[in-house]
Amino acid sequence: MRIAIDVDEVLADQLSGLIAFHNAEYGTTLQRGDFATYRFWETWGGTREEAIEKTRAFHQSSAAAHIAPVAGAQDAVQKLSRQHELIVVTARWNDIAAETQQWIAEYFPQAFSQFHFANHYALDGSPERTKLEICQEIGADLLVDDSLSNVTDMAYAGKRGILFDYPWNQSDELPQGVLRARSWSEVLRSI
Ligand SMILES: [Mg+2]
Repeated sequence: MRIAIDVDEVLADQLSGLIAFHNAEYGTTLQRGDFATYRFWETWGGTREEAIEKTRAFHQSSAAAHIAPVAGAQDAVQKLSRQHELIVVTARWNDIAAETQQWIAEYFPQAFSQFHFANHYALDGSPERTKLEICQEIGADLLVDDSLSNVTDMAYAGKRGILFDYPWNQSDELPQGVLRARSWSEVLRSI
């Protein structure tokens, strides 16, 4: 099977890195528990554009290379890669593709056959794609992601989703074809 896998908060613990960066740069004392939403401006204050600029500053800093992998991701991806074709499908910007691929090569060597950047939250007007569009293009029938809307898009198109459980993706019910996983071992059991 071809499986599309998200980067941030699924392979990479971006949020912890971003919180440490924000606390150091802007004098805040935020912790993970303060992020009930993934719309960072709702936790940081300020505008959406300012939050995107802060996230860009983090990715342009040396701290971005030191993002830790999500717990259990390395072992699970290695196991999955023996039986499936794994493809990175991330919302990250096109212009941090090289750094992102370098990070993935360090923590997940040889595990992924392709890398696709959906370029969400671009401030320069460059085009973005939905993850569903990318999955349709590459023939991936399953997306592992922490965004409820991304996996819902997959389900409505007759594909499958595994929703990596976080406070920001809670929902009373999930569409048919979507399963919630609380850890990478639960992802393995769901595939
Ligand atoms: Mg994500």
